[in-house]
Parts: sequence; C-alpha cells; structure tokens
Amino acid sequence: MTSSKKYVYAFEEGDGKNKMLLGGKGANLCEMTQIGLNVPPGFTASTDACNAYLEKNQLPPGLMDEIRTHMAALEKKTGKGFGDAKNPLLISVRSGAAMSMPGMMDTILNLGLNEVSLKGLITQTGNERFAYDAYRRFIQLFGKIALNISDEHFDERMVAIKRKYGAPQDVDLNTEHLKELAGEFLAIVQRQTGQAFPQDPFVQLEIAVGAVFRSWMGKRAVDYRKQFRITKAQANGTAVSICTMVFGNMGNDSGTGVGFTRNPGTGENVIYGEYLVNAQGEDVVAGIRTPKAIAEMEQEMPEIHRQLIQLRSRLESHYHEVQDFEFTIEKGILYCLQTRNGKMNARAMVRTSVEMFHQGLITKERALLRTEPAVLEQLLVPQLAPNFHAKSLAQGLSASPGAASGKIVFDADTAETRGRAGEKIILVREETKPEDIHGFFQAQGILTSRGGKTSHAAVVARGMGKPCVSGCEQIVINDQLRSAKVGDTVLREGDVITIDGGTGHVYAGEIPTVEAEFSEEMNTLLGWADEVAALKVMANADSPVDALRAREFGAMGIGLCRTERMFNATDRLPIVQEMILAETLEERQAALDRLLPIQRADFKGIFKAMKGLPVTVRLLDPPMHEFLPTAAQLELEIAHLHQLRDTIKALEDLPETLKMLNPKLYQQYADGLTPLMGALGTFKKSHMEDEVIAKKEKILKKVRALAEVNPMLGHRGVRLGITYPEIYSMQIRAILEAAALCGKQGIEIYPEIMVPQVATVEELKRIHSYVQRIRQEVRATHGIDVQFKFGSMLEVVRACMRSGRMAEIAEFFSFGTNDLSQATFSFSREDAENKFLPFYNETGILEDNPFEVLDIKGVGQLMKMAVQNGRVTNPDLKVGICGEHGGHPGSIRFCHHIKLNYVSCSGPRVPIARLAAAQAKLLEDQYREPV
Ligand code: PEP
Ligand code: MG
Repeated sequence: MTSSKKYVYAFEEGDGKNKMLLGGKGANLCEMTQIGLNVPPGFTASTDACNAYLEKNQLPPGLMDEIRTHMAALEKKTGKGFGDAKNPLLISVRSGAAMSMPGMMDTILNLGLNEVSLKGLITQTGNERFAYDAYRRFIQLFGKIALNISDEHFDERMVAIKRKYGAPQDVDLNTEHLKELAGEFLAIVQRQTGQAFPQDPFVQLEIAVGAVFRSWMGKRAVDYRKQFRITKAQANGTAVSICTMVFGNMGNDSGTGVGFTRNPGTGENVIYGEYLVNAQGEDVVAGIRTPKAIAEMEQEMPEIHRQLIQLRSRLESHYHEVQDFEFTIEKGILYCLQTRNGKMNARAMVRTSVEMFHQGLITKERALLRTEPAVLEQLLVPQLAPNFHAKSLAQGLSASPGAASGKIVFDADTAETRGRAGEKIILVREETKPEDIHGFFQAQGILTSRGGKTSHAAVVARGMGKPCVSGCEQIVINDQLRSAKVGDTVLREGDVITIDGGTGHVYAGEIPTVEAEFSEEMNTLLGWADEVAALKVMANADSPVDALRAREFGAMGIGLCRTERMFNATDRLPIVQEMILAETLEERQAALDRLLPIQRADFKGIFKAMKGLPVTVRLLDPPMHEFLPTAAQLELEIAHLHQLRDTIKALEDLPETLKMLNPKLYQQYADGLTPLMGALGTFKKSHMEDEVIAKKEKILKKVRALAEVNPMLGHRGVRLGITYPEIYSMQIRAILEAAALCGKQGIEIYPEIMVPQVATVEELKRIHSYVQRIRQEVRATHGIDVQFKFGSMLEVVRACMRSGRMAEIAEFFSFGTNDLSQATFSFSREDAENKFLPFYNETGILEDNPFEVLDIKGVGQLMKMAVQNGRVTNPDLKVGICGEHGGHPGSIRFCHHIKLNYVSCSGPRVPIARLAAAQAKLLEDQYREPV
C-alpha cells in the first residue's frame, strides 16, 4: 500500500515559517529560496517522515518515491546527473530540528560520489587531488554515520599513510596518497560490513536519510535535549534537507566566504566579512590560507561584490535584523548557503537598533526588544581587553562588574594613603566593614576572601560602580605578614593583580582593560525605553558624587540612600564612636549635636544633586558595633600597648637597678643615662599608653556588650531608633532642615524618609511621631513646612504579612529584597553564597542564586501579597524595590507584573534596568509567573 501523505517539500514550496515540520535549516532554506536568493536547489523531507521512520524503524512508504521525483527535478534544475560520469550532481544530506542543536545530529556531504562520478568531479573541477580528498572524506563520513563504522578504523589508516609518506598534516598528502587512502577506506567498509561500499547513489541516499533520522535518537542528541530541556512541543524529530553541493574551489572564478550585513563589532552600516578565492568552506575555518576582507572583493570580483551588496539589503529588508550569512561562488555564480540573525556585541546591538529604526527597517518596539538588557553592562563599566590571554589565579563571586588592575593593599588606611598619592590600588581584605569606606574611595577595585554578593563590600562597591570580587575563598590573607596565598602563589603588598568583577576571576599582574562608553545611540535607545516603561528607575546612592553619576546614567531619583556610609567617613567616625560609647543621654546628645550639621550638609548635597527628583533617605540601619573595631583587633592592640608600657617601665627602672647591682658601672654610665631617661620621658608623654589603654578598654567593654550571636537579626534598624530615639531624631532633623534650607534657596526637592527593618505597625507609628514633632519644630525655626513622604522598608517577613496596617502610616513601601530573601529562606546573606548555594545550584535544588535573581515563587509571592494588601488600605501607595534584585532584568519583569511603581539599583545598572523596564511593559501580555 502506498501512502498518500506528503513528506517532501521543494525549497520553492515549503513554508519558511514551519520549523516544526521542516526543521530550522529546512525552513530557512525554503524562505531564502522564496525571497529570491540564489540558494543551491534542494528539498526537505519533513519531521513527520522522521517520526514515521522512528516508529517502524524503516522509511515510510512513498518517501523514497517522493525523493526520487525531487531528485529528478534537481537534475533538471542543475543540469547535472546524480552519479554522472561527466557532470555529477553531488548533494549534502543535512539534519535540522525546530530548535537549533548545533553538532548534535548528523550531516553527510558530497553524497553521490562513487567510482564513476569521481571521474566526473575530476573533470568538473580539474582538480584530481580535491576529488580524491572529497571521496575519502565522504567514505569515512558515510561509513561512520550511515554504516556505523567507528572512526578509529579510518583514523588509523590516515595516521599510517601520513607516517608512510612523511606528511605531517592531511594537507601534505598528494593525489596519489589520497588515492591510496580512498582505496584503503573502501576496504575498511568491505571488512566491517561484509559488503562493498554502496556505489548506487540512490542506495547511498536511502541509507543516509535513515541514518540522519536515527541521529535524532542518538545519545548526543538525547542528552542535549535533556540538558536544555527541549520538549516535544518545541522540537519533535529532525527533518532532512537535501541540498545541491556547490564548490568554491573550481578555479579563480570560484570562492567561499562568510558575511555580516553590518559590522558586528561596531554596528557600522557596512558589509563585513571574509572570503577566499578558489577554496571550500572548510578552508576558511581551517585557517590554512588567510581570508581577505570582503571590501577587497570590489577589486578582485567586482560583479560578485555588487551582488553581495544587493544580497545584504535583501536579507535585511526581509529579516529586519542583521544577518550572518555564508556564501559560495561556483564558476562566477553566487550562492547563499545559510543566513541567521547575527550575533553582535553590546555596542553594535545598540547602534544597529537606533540606525535600523531610522532606516525604517524595524519599529521602536523591536529596537527596544532585540537587545538583552544585561549585555549593556559591557558598555557601562571597564572590561578586560577582549583578546587577552591569562590564566586566572583564583575565582570568587562576581560581586560588582568591571575590571581593574592595581597594587595589592591589605588595609583601608594604606589604600587611602597610596591611592591619594596617585597609585592604583586593589583593596584586598578578608571581608570589609563600614569603617573601610575611605579605602574604597581610593581603590580601583575590591577583593575579599569572604562574604556574598550582598556583603558589605559587594553592596558598597556596586553603589560606587567599582569592580569587586567577593568570597574568593582560595585566597588566604595574612594581615600580619601583609601577604596572601593562593595555593603555592604568594602575593605581597604592592604586587599587581587584576580583578574582573563580572566573572569573579582574579589574575596576577596587569591585564589591559577597555573603558566604558555611554554613546549617543545608547542615550537615544534608553530615551525610547523611558517613554515606554511603566516602572521608574531609581538609583541606590549614598553621596552627592554617586547621585550625580547615577543621574548621568538616567536615574529618575534616589530610591535608597544608606545613611550609614556617611557615618563612616573618616572625619565623622570618631564622633559616631563617641556617640556609641556615651554613658549618659547627655553625652550621647552632645555627640549627636556635633553630627547634626554634618548630616544636614550631606543631605543638602544629595538633594541639590538630585534637584527636581525624589530622594529616599533611609534612617540608620546597621548594628552599632559595626562602627567600632572588632574585639579581636582591640585585644591585640591592648596587648601591644601593655607590652610597650612594661618595656618603658623596665627602662625607667634601669638606672636604679644598675646602681644597686653595680654602683661602679653605674658611675661610669651615669652621664649617658640622663639624656636617655629624658628621651624616654618625652616618648612616654607623647604616647600616653595608660590613657590609650583605658580608652581602648572602654571600647572593648562596649564592643563586648554590643556583641550579638545573630547581629543580622539583632539590635539594628528601627529597633535602634526606638531604643535610642535621639539618634533617629537627629537624622530626621538633619533631613528636614536640609530640605528647609534647599527650599529657601528655591531648589526643588522631593525628600522621603524611610525606616528600615520594620516588623510591626507600632514601630512605624513611633518613628512617625518623632517625624511629626520634628516637622513642627523645623517649621517653627525655619518658617517652612517641609513636604515629604514617610515610608517603610518591607524587608522583614512580618511586615509583608501586615502591609495592610503598615499602609495606614506609610505613604510608600520599598522592598529590601536582600534582607527579605535572607529572612524568607533563612539563608545568611553573608555566608550562603560561598558555602552551600553553589552546590544547591549545581545539583538543581535551586535554579538560581536567590540573592541575585528574585525568588518569584517564594519572596515574590510575599511581595505580591504585600502590594495588594497595602493598596487596599491606600490605593495611591507608592511601592518600589531597593534590594539588589532591582537591577536584575528577570526580577524587573516581575516587579512590573505586580505593579510596583519603581525599581532602585546601583548607578551603573540603571541603564540596564531602564531597558528591562521597557521590555517588561512591551512583553507584559506574554508574562507568566513561574509556578
Ligand atoms: C535590603 O535589605 O534589600 C536593602 C536594600 O537593605 P540593605 O542591603 O542595606 O540591608
Ligand atoms: Mg536591608
């Protein structure tokens, strides 16, 4: 019984959009043919045929009849004969599924070669060596794929022949050698299969089609589908495309090459690519001869060059995308073998988006959608030079993107001194603390051996736009010796290293970097993004300098200003410490009174920098002990001071001891001892060890008193504000007075006061009462009723559960997803990323790092509920996110979906977030929450 089902489609008739039926390659060949490109003629046997084959383990009835009919048409079109002795038609038999699975399935080239057509190929090409080379390749490929003969048998003969004729490479074998090799290959087939190599080209074709279908179920392909989770709905079986072989090595009117419709490195609107005259495709790849730039073709083959220029316009006006295409010229005729969307770097993506829109090739929407937001990072921070070759010394977490080189320095003070002196510095610490901040300012980059992507170092570095590698546990730092070890390598202070915060790699020595560039095209594209997006994009910035920089990146306000960074600047840390060490309220108030004008000036600076835009200032968040040295450090310093004091004491007693033990000797040295004792007195006075020891011991006592087992869950945030109302009061006053002063100067400002770590509505009410009181006091003294918003961080699970009540007091919420993720998972944000999280990710327990990619299924659900309940109380409630996820494109899509008003992220991520926010809006109808 013959089947009436149609399995085979000529390139002229197949539906170029039906990849499920014709495979990506087949559909592409059909589409190219139908838009009038000169594609070598051919046809495609469908995936239906593949599935029918796999079901019965034989080609479905009627398939070979259809193939024969199409082969006859091919012979007619090409004027060549299949198996012909003079002008043979050779074909390729190619696999291709709906989803691209590069190299996972089989393809056979030069099918149709046999002892007869070989002669024809020699006549056609006038190149006997080439013909035999093609023949021996075909026998091996066919033997392996269609006849299941292991490559080893062929490879062994190849090695033997090369040895026999002293040929180092395949290309060194001459025609006679290749003839001999082809003979040996035919013998291998005979031996391994018990039958001669099939000479009938149709028998070859039938076996080859079956073999390609079978390769769909080959181990490689099955594993690949499993790994990349390719389902049957995405790709079901492989199609087989049968395509006329064309040869670029038929003389000087032939050639082969690859092209891009625009320059993929710069985006420039010119054809780009390379070609070789009288060569086959693989010669370009093998690099045996150096290809020439397509521009040179204008001289060498002007007519073909003209056709290529035409081809480029045709491809772009059809595909509306930059194309990467392959071509072959056979005896003066240009064939296009393949085309696909070109892969480009970020710079080229941005430029082509803008230019293709202006040329009317794409819409604004398409221009915004075709670039992956994350790739913009390449343009926003310095990168390692693309062609560098260096072995990485160690790898930590990619905590803040960008690359930097500099001399190692192990403490913030030295970093500050050497940095100020103009040296390039990388601050290398086990972990950083807020008091290291002055070192950050002067360092090119930061490397820590402990801590995650939301550790202090990571967050601060990101805010400053400085590269940071955190949690690089292979590096063992010895602060005392001022050195670090990575395996056997010892790194000393002053040695140069390079860090790549985008990959987490650390390199010895200096590696060249390329600078960031914020082009005009980028501005244009992001301007379009802002017109489309519903989400506003704010920045996390803590200083006027960072605020201005964020503004340059297009930030629409400051979504999070962490005030603790201001506390840590060198000129104020001693006052902050005084405040912490105060025994009485009066003492504390005295210190706060000194801090007030400083904070006021800080806020004024930020408000001014962000004039016209909102600035959310967060009241103090970290626990107090973070502003003091560690107990271990203090104990060490105190022990050294005690030693010093004992030594001085012993020296002071020296004259008396000497007098007692040896009066004669004493007499002899008495004169010399007097100035020595004088110098000792001066030294003692200037060092005042007793006083210093007492001071340090007082701090130590306080540090011990403040020590907590779980500081992240301890006395911090609003809890500090409630137990020490004077601290928050000072900050609130500083904010409102700064606002009043700006108001007097006519500066348009939109301040917002935000309370961290809130868990209960009573906490929020309490702080709100301070705010109301101080507002009235400021009105009384400055005569201005400052307008501002009062809001709460939502970073404690309970606050999310109680958001309906919170919204009675708060005018806005900001999700602190760093702490909220920590709390929801009960994973320490300081430790999880370099302890068990990588293992969780590798073994599939967790798909992503929840500190980097918002956990929509858990944390996201809390957020969604909190937004909904909050807006039931107050429909105008403004809601945003200021955790690190605010700069992550996938997380931004979810933020758009749950109708947040804004995202806030570090300055250099602002452009990424702007593009992601626009894409979230454009793709909102397709969005599905992961379940
Ligand atoms: C957060 O927890 O997400 C947040 C923004 O605050 P911080 O990182 O300062 O704790
Ligand atoms: Mg937090």
